[in-house]
Amino acid sequence: MATLPSIPHACPNCGSTDRYTTKVSSGGGYAPNYLPRLSTKWWASPTFDVVVCAKCGLTQFFAPQDSCAKLPNSSTWTRL
Ligand SMILES: [Zn+2]
Repeated sequence: MATLPSIPHACPNCGSTDRYTTKVSSGGGYAPNYLPRLSTKWWASPTFDVVVCAKCGLTQFFAPQDSCAKLPNSSTWTRL
C-alpha cells in the first residue's frame, strides 16, 4: 500500500499487510460532514485517507494533518 504518515502498516484487527487506500471527501453539502470546521480551504471539505484491509474488511479513516492541527483550538470538537 502507499506509505502514509502515522498510519500503521499492518491491520490492527487481523495483522494482515494486504491493505488498500484511497482518498474520499469528508462530506458537507448534501452529504454528512464528518470533519466539521476542520477544513483549511473554505471551498472544500477535508479529504480522508481511507484504508481497507483486504483480509478482514476493517476500514479506517484518517483526517489530514492540517485538519488535525486545528482540533485543539476548535470549539466544535471536544477533547476526550
Ligand atoms: Zn484485517
